Amino acid sequence: MRKKLFIATFGCQMNDYDSLTMARLLNPTHELSDAPENADLIIINTCSIREKAEHKLYSLAGRYRTLKEKNPGLKIAITGCVAQQEGERLIERMPYVDIVLGPQGIYSLPEIVNSNGVGTDKKICINSLDPDFSIPLVKQTAPPPDQVRASVTIMQGCDNFCTYCIVPYVRGREISRDPSHIIQEIRDAVELGAREIILLGQNVNSYGRKHGGRPLKDHPGFSQLLEMADSVPGVKRLRFTTSHPKDVDESTARCYRELSSLCEHIHLPVQSGSTAVLKRMNRHYSREEYLEKIAMLKEACPGITITTDLIVGFPGETEKDFEQTISLLEEVRYDQIFVFKYSPRPGTPASRLPDQIPPDVKTRRIETVLKLQEKIGLEQYAKLEGKEVEILVEAEGREKSGDMQGRTRGNHVVHFPGSPDLLGKLVNVTIERACKHSLRGRLPYPN
Ligand code: SF4
Repeated sequence: MRKKLFIATFGCQMNDYDSLTMARLLNPTHELSDAPENADLIIINTCSIREKAEHKLYSLAGRYRTLKEKNPGLKIAITGCVAQQEGERLIERMPYVDIVLGPQGIYSLPEIVNSNGVGTDKKICINSLDPDFSIPLVKQTAPPPDQVRASVTIMQGCDNFCTYCIVPYVRGREISRDPSHIIQEIRDAVELGAREIILLGQNVNSYGRKHGGRPLKDHPGFSQLLEMADSVPGVKRLRFTTSHPKDVDESTARCYRELSSLCEHIHLPVQSGSTAVLKRMNRHYSREEYLEKIAMLKEACPGITITTDLIVGFPGETEKDFEQTISLLEEVRYDQIFVFKYSPRPGTPASRLPDQIPPDVKTRRIETVLKLQEKIGLEQYAKLEGKEVEILVEAEGREKSGDMQGRTRGNHVVHFPGSPDLLGKLVNVTIERACKHSLRGRLPYPN
């Protein structure tokens, strides 16, 4: 009988992907359980992007410690960015933790868990980062958790060193995955029911340029990879995230024109509307250059949905800088934004910058941004009212019984009355009403 595995995941899509990879790696010996009380192995897959996530790790690990008192055979593993960053210090701080693995170390899990080492009190920590590491192809054992959507990682790490971000230190330098592994993983996902593929990486547009800090020669670039993914039979929709504005170029814009599966949406984090702040963030683009990229994308793909990430209250952000962010929101007119108050991450250059912004100012700024975006977002969504749009049906609606839920190619969530046999199908719906973060629609024919 297989043992039971429970995984608690924090953070971004990369962490969701890593959790899924760990479940696949351990599938021959462990089945996933949603109850930590019954687990033989608990993995806490951590994030260190925001302080809160780190605090959550300590409180959650403390809770699992009590389970260990009742079940001494239970093993606790910590993976992800905090594991990479803290390494053995986690075991010193929490002696009940058995295994600590950084993002490259997770591929050793089957060997570790099924070796005699874990039957004893031996502690294991792997948190080195090998610049020559290649991301393995792991056999998929079940349909993707989102059923019709599958994420496929194309790279790990980041070379950009934005001054507020911990990623380059915990995920290492950029490593581009072997394109044949990416395409095989897409084929396997489609065979298991995926219709939409999301290519994942910290900076997807620089795919194929460097590996572990060294330039790559004769490697397909990002637009070539998009072409290869588009041509896999059964891929109805293709998306990617995250893009870096400095690396989005004409070749990416051309793909929007030419590839039928590539959805008309881009998530293009701007972080600030002020060139001075962008410079202190080490973002490698000015406000004007960002707006030029937006214009290029809008020209290549009229009606493209644009979403973004924003940080308010970055050290030294003046009222004038903040006004620039507000005017950028008005100019670009994003459909959705993810906005955060700047919080210093230990070990990052920005945490040592002078002129940290007081909490009340950050709160006022984030509230101003949210209020404005609520209005803009609603206006953007309202443009779809009365239109017939194609959606990929991805789940039963959670808000109302008898509802199904899908997504437009522009990534807007649509709720509509329908039956579960539509799951995984592309259907056309007429949009009746725009809500804050979703749309209400109906099928044009009785279902
Ligand atoms: S691009 Fe900047 S914010 Fe994004 S992962 Fe790299 S360093 Fe972090």
